[in-house]
Amino acid sequence: MKRQFERPYIKKLKAGMPSKFGMPVHTDPITHIDDVSVTGLIEDFGSPLFVISESTIRNTYNEAYDAFKSRYPKVQFAWSYKTNYLDAVCKVFHSEGSWAEVVSGFEYDKAIRNGVKGSQIVFNGPDKSDEDLEKATRNNSLIHIDHFDELYSLISVAEKIDKVPKVAIRVNMDTGVYPMWDRFGFNYENGDAWDAINRIMMSDKLELIGLHTHIGTYMLAANAYGIATAKLADLAFRIERKYDISLKYIDLGGGFASKNTLKGAYLPGKDTVPSFDDYAEAITGALINSEINPSRLPMLILETGRALIDDAGYLLGTVLANKRLSDGRRSTVVDTGVNLLFTSFWYDHEFYPAKQTSDHLEETSIYGPLCMNIDILREAIAFPLLKKGDNFVIKRIGAYNMTQWMQFITMRPRVVMIDLNNEVHKIRELETLDTIVLNESVPKHLQK
Ligand SMILES: *Cc1c(COP(=O)(O)O)cnc(C)c1O
Repeated sequence: MKRQFERPYIKKLKAGMPSKFGMPVHTDPITHIDDVSVTGLIEDFGSPLFVISESTIRNTYNEAYDAFKSRYPKVQFAWSYKTNYLDAVCKVFHSEGSWAEVVSGFEYDKAIRNGVKGSQIVFNGPDKSDEDLEKATRNNSLIHIDHFDELYSLISVAEKIDKVPKVAIRVNMDTGVYPMWDRFGFNYENGDAWDAINRIMMSDKLELIGLHTHIGTYMLAANAYGIATAKLADLAFRIERKYDISLKYIDLGGGFASKNTLKGAYLPGKDTVPSFDDYAEAITGALINSEINPSRLPMLILETGRALIDDAGYLLGTVLANKRLSDGRRSTVVDTGVNLLFTSFWYDHEFYPAKQTSDHLEETSIYGPLCMNIDILREAIAFPLLKKGDNFVIKRIGAYNMTQWMQFITMRPRVVMIDLNNEVHKIRELETLDTIVLNESVPKHLQK
């Protein structure tokens, strides 16, 4: 095969390089996902293309579940819908035993449609309408109260339909990680959480069965969960002492870091983020060492999102062009923009060629196809030369992109799932002009 031409280059020696040839860096290609060929996927389903590996979801889920289950008797995961609510993805989690965690009426309805029992839906978020609250009460869902206004609305709903909702409150607190997420729920330190608990306990309209917190997202300090758990356990113990009731569960929310690398981080995420074992050790340790009566330990609910799905998602794309910027730097223009990869605003995503390339890496800016200056996927990445038409793979993009993607300038692409037998299933169709204009209407006088 004829070798691809690359222009000659002079490489500047930098301090710390072991020899005049520099560090032995090169980029291995990703030619296959599970056992399916990347270029074959693009031939069959077009470019760009989102790919989800079912086996990676199941393996990651089981790794997380085992980390907790081996340390604590009652563990229940609830899949965070907003992290990725494609039905096929949700159903993989539900088939593993995961409940649903939703933050809107729309997500609630999606969970019901996916066959989740009402009593296995955790309903979070600051925006639940009276209709949402009524539906969730009738279905015995776990309603997590976010603020006093919601508490009073829920009491009215309960009176109206003469049914006692099962509730928890969301608690926010100082866990030593700043900025503190104090806009959701009731604060622990200033006494609001205890106040809300007492108001619920004194009312016969609501049944308090749990406590919830979600301390933040991409939390790099496992110990913050230890502190949060201890504070929730303290509230649970005070409830036990004052009212002689034991809570059914304590819910530590989501926020475990995935292995992505934050922009500006010194070391790659895969080398620095805590493992599921680290998080599990912090949380279960705090529960076991608390004052809670050991014969009535609450169920531990986890709403882990990104750490369970990021690794299972890939975005495949194609190079559109290469050009030199005014300062001589190489820029590569690709067909996957920030409209599809919302998380590129805070992560340095990993790009891999889909076939073997030369070992020479050059500092490259990777731009998306949008006619917008903000469409930058990587400001500067050491990357081999890919030619127009060459394919590449972006790794670890399963979380938040397939929900926060925007239909902007171009259509959202297909999504496929590779099953455990390496069969490929289309789980979301390419959008078309018809999809986009479906909800539009043109006033009569403009129709001609
Ligand atoms: C977003 C969210 C989650 C999931 O968070 P991750 O950081 O993806 O793990 C869990 N619980 C609540 C209440 C959330 O808002």
